[in-house]
Amino acid sequence: MGGGTLIRFGLRAAVIAVMALAVWSGGAAAQSATAQAPFHVVAFWTDKGEPDHIAFAKQAIAFYTELGKKQNFEFSSTLNWDDLNAVRLEDVQVVVWLNDFPHNAAQRAAFEEYMTHGGAWLGFHVSAYNDESTGWPWFVKFLGGAVFYGNNWPPLPALLDVDAPSDPVAKGLAKTVNSPSNEWYIWKPSPRANPDVKVLLTLDPKNYPIGLKDTITAGDLPVVWTNTKFHMIYMNMGHGDKIFDSAEQNRLFENALLWLGGRATP
Ligand code: ZN
Repeated sequence: MGGGTLIRFGLRAAVIAVMALAVWSGGAAAQSATAQAPFHVVAFWTDKGEPDHIAFAKQAIAFYTELGKKQNFEFSSTLNWDDLNAVRLEDVQVVVWLNDFPHNAAQRAAFEEYMTHGGAWLGFHVSAYNDESTGWPWFVKFLGGAVFYGNNWPPLPALLDVDAPSDPVAKGLAKTVNSPSNEWYIWKPSPRANPDVKVLLTLDPKNYPIGLKDTITAGDLPVVWTNTKFHMIYMNMGHGDKIFDSAEQNRLFENALLWLGGRATP
């Protein structure tokens, strides 16, 4: 064996060792996103109803389409909720709901099947709306028990507290986030009452009273949370065309989708 071979062998061993170290140290972060296999996202939305909800959905589609190009995931959107079926979702890693929810029992059943078999969900704003007329107890459990109780009006900006700064979804956020104008929902019971729920961001009580026509004066108002029994995140943001005006909040939106897609957050 000549010296050259030995050197080459040594070099190769060193390269392998460095690669192993990078993987071991969570250095997937050092690996570029494009080197990772793309994951697939489908966003369901509606172009009917509240114009401010539609405006948000359109901006969210643009935001995540651009992010997908940078972070190597495939983002598609559909107005057809019948696409919420086992065949369509077979190679879909994340389902997003942009201000709408399933319209019939078959779509609900397909979603339950998807989530109980390892699917991931990101829901915004009115997507989680439910009251006594909804008649979908599985979904209330999925949300961690949250039932819509009230909202402020008109939409207003708010200071949010980051409850779980070490969570990958909160990575890079300061202790508080200045969230642009939104319609805030309060839930009773609060999902925080459920020990399986991890609240990530909460409306800071300093915002109270919030609203002019409809005012929330007090209470626990979780804004972003996950029910740890599922791979899911709910975000209350989603009313109007100001939501994506905050770079710090956009970071949260980016982190959430990457985490749901199985990626390390940047
Ligand atoms: Zn709204």
